[in-house]
Amino acid sequence: MVKLTENKHYSENKAIEQLPVPSKVYLPLIQHLGKICNPEVKVGDTVKFGQRIASIEANVYAPIHASISGTVAAIQDWPHPVLGRAKAVVLEGNGLPEETFSVKSKQEIDRLSPADIRKIVLDAGIVGMGGASFPTHIKLNPPRPLDVLIINGAECEPYLTADSRLMVEKTNEVAEGIALIAACLGIKEIYIGIEDNKPEAIKAFSVFPGFKVKVLKSDYPQGGEKQLIQNILGKQIPRGKLPFDIGVLVQNVATVYAVYEAVFKGKPLVERLVTVTGSCLANPKNLLVRLGTPIKNLIDFCGPLKEEPVKIIIGGPMMGIAQYTDEVPIIKSSGGLLLMSEKEAKTIEEGPCIRCAACVRGCPVGLMPCQINLASEKSLWQSTKDYGASDCIECGICNYVCPANRRLLQTIKRAKLEVAKIK
Ligand code: SF4
Ligand code: SF4
Repeated sequence: MVKLTENKHYSENKAIEQLPVPSKVYLPLIQHLGKICNPEVKVGDTVKFGQRIASIEANVYAPIHASISGTVAAIQDWPHPVLGRAKAVVLEGNGLPEETFSVKSKQEIDRLSPADIRKIVLDAGIVGMGGASFPTHIKLNPPRPLDVLIINGAECEPYLTADSRLMVEKTNEVAEGIALIAACLGIKEIYIGIEDNKPEAIKAFSVFPGFKVKVLKSDYPQGGEKQLIQNILGKQIPRGKLPFDIGVLVQNVATVYAVYEAVFKGKPLVERLVTVTGSCLANPKNLLVRLGTPIKNLIDFCGPLKEEPVKIIIGGPMMGIAQYTDEVPIIKSSGGLLLMSEKEAKTIEEGPCIRCAACVRGCPVGLMPCQINLASEKSLWQSTKDYGASDCIECGICNYVCPANRRLLQTIKRAKLEVAKIK
């Protein structure tokens, strides 16, 4: 693991604010890992806030809901923060008061079975909001009984502070969400892992008797599933295996909060917290944003610009994705929006590998990034598979430590896609 400059000071003490409801949203039909949804509305239809507008019959998917009330203006290709472009439902708002959802009493919650909770989570379209976007209802239905639940409150990416604010400002709600997930899976051993640079969050959760707070060093990538399990339980996940293979479920705090909102308040996943930050902005903030809102609205709300950004990233600087337009919308996995100045984003020319092994020493999952990179550049996909490319957690440390500025992660990502095609 490596120590990075955190740069969280821009927004870590900024209380959560609601971004004004946008007049238009662009909701991609794919915002999750799995099958792309089919639209269930057509151009000209009137939709209500929270109404399901897209779904599909498939094993792995999560439905999409209207994040504003209004009219379907178009169903068209549109910029997508991960895929470049994808089909999206465009909604034009009508400005009318929005529908409220049906809140459940504590007695009603207590009567819910695990199957009821999974159904609510599926119907609400909840996915892993730490960036993975894997549908949460599937994680709540593991193929074997689980013993340990770990809540990921590490938020180890530099600049990002939305999870930190959520833990401080919505502590009770997150705690209720943790209890729901634990009850759904029959788990008694529960930990919440928080880095030592978030003393307020550590203090806030220390009063709850149902789970243990594990204070973690603020190193990167402390929030990776494998690192959390290793540092909290002292257990390693064998190569090619997943946390559930060793009886563990890891859930990000933002996902837990979404589960709370769905079960207690009947609210589908229609908005999320986003850290909008970087030295180019006059007013970095932690914003509650309706899904489908173009990032331009967020930038305007946190402006004015002190300097023209040379790079705009959705996510953090290590794992986030650079964007080519400010029309791209916030989706379920977008936890950060980072505007980088020329100084912060300076790109240096790539040189030849000098065989220093810094990337090997830095890789938190024990890979040889330099070897995978060389094999990937020659399209030797079987070799990249043998070198364990699929185990890469895409943390970006190899890029960060490489003195030759080799684009290791980019070629490893490509190798992972190719390896997935090999039987
Ligand atoms: S190979 Fe993957 S896991 Fe290892 S340092 Fe590079 S990005 Fe991180
Ligand atoms: S860190 Fe860069 S230069 Fe050093 S071995 Fe890895 S790829 Fe080569």
